[in-house]
Amino acid sequence: KLVRDRVKSLKPYVPGKSKEEIIRKYNLNPEDIIKLGSNENPWGCSKKIKEELLREIGNLHQYPEPVNPVLMEELGNFLDVPRENIIVGGDGADEIIDTLMRTFVDVGDEVIIPIPTFTQYRVSAHIHGANIRYGRYNKKKDFKLDVDSILDNITERTKIIFLCTPNNPTGNPIERKDIKKILESTEALVVVDHAYIEYSKDIYNVTKWALDYENLLILRTFSKIFGLAGARVGYGVANEEVINYMMRVKPVFSLTRLSQICTIAALRDREFFFYSREKGIESREILYRGLKKFKELKVYPSEANYLLVEIRNDMTSGEFCEELLKRGVIVRDCKSFEGLDGEYIRVSIGTFEEDRRFLEILKDIV
Ligand code: PMP
Repeated sequence: KLVRDRVKSLKPYVPGKSKEEIIRKYNLNPEDIIKLGSNENPWGCSKKIKEELLREIGNLHQYPEPVNPVLMEELGNFLDVPRENIIVGGDGADEIIDTLMRTFVDVGDEVIIPIPTFTQYRVSAHIHGANIRYGRYNKKKDFKLDVDSILDNITERTKIIFLCTPNNPTGNPIERKDIKKILESTEALVVVDHAYIEYSKDIYNVTKWALDYENLLILRTFSKIFGLAGARVGYGVANEEVINYMMRVKPVFSLTRLSQICTIAALRDREFFFYSREKGIESREILYRGLKKFKELKVYPSEANYLLVEIRNDMTSGEFCEELLKRGVIVRDCKSFEGLDGEYIRVSIGTFEEDRRFLEILKDIV
């Protein structure tokens, strides 16, 4: 009964609009659609995955390995951390977030979430009966994390603090010294969400800190730079004790044979990884420069594969998105992000051709 009441009051996570939905609603051609709404990789994934997947189809009658040693070795090499410090989840980083809640949070415990940020932390914390205390990314300072808004909310019941860097949807990173200060002010588990870290300057990557701090978990994913959002694989890096606890709770077979094969092949194709990174950053720069030319739009600097844009004409973000949709462009209306008052949209990187078409279409609307 308690769980049902809690879930009834929940504002669920609403993912971005799908291509199919837009094609039907606005009677568009599939080739007219430009999908810049879900922070995906517009260059797809490694071409080497296909052949490996076809081979694996013959093994689908067998259960997957709960922990695939080849994947652990490749991932350990990629991160340069021992495999004992890694947990891989089969519903993306979302599964790691859920596993964290199930492992470390009891009903009535507290979770600190600075907002605006990725909605899934709140949804998952709420489902598990945590009390949520909100901190802030400060709008007046280009959404820089307000460290005191975290520290002031820490109590004996604080179990998890979520820091997202670069932050979704604002795009800005959290400074190393701020992460350090929070880590050293609490025994609660600090989750540093690095879903987009591969698009950032190296200086912002604190993955290896997980080997030094007992209360740090780094969250990462194959959904972005590796272009595997559809395969649903995410992972966490933390000290062995944290990983061992979580491994007892994580669904045993959530990582399917097919997703294991995808990730191994993706990790072995380092050429595609670097290609994605280089092109992604270039696309972000093209969009940033293009958007900056519109005086009615304020675009924020970003270290991720998307840009936050404030609309400063007399349109609401909903109206703005609708005008884009009619022309086949899907972006994210930021109304669903708590703590982001005003008219904002989030635009993901596209291929250079998609970026050009999007910027051209904008001239009709702004
Ligand atoms: N963290 C952040 C900040 C995200 O934006 C996302 C996806 N949008 C995730 C985690 C979850 O990624 P996935 O479940 O696809 O691995």
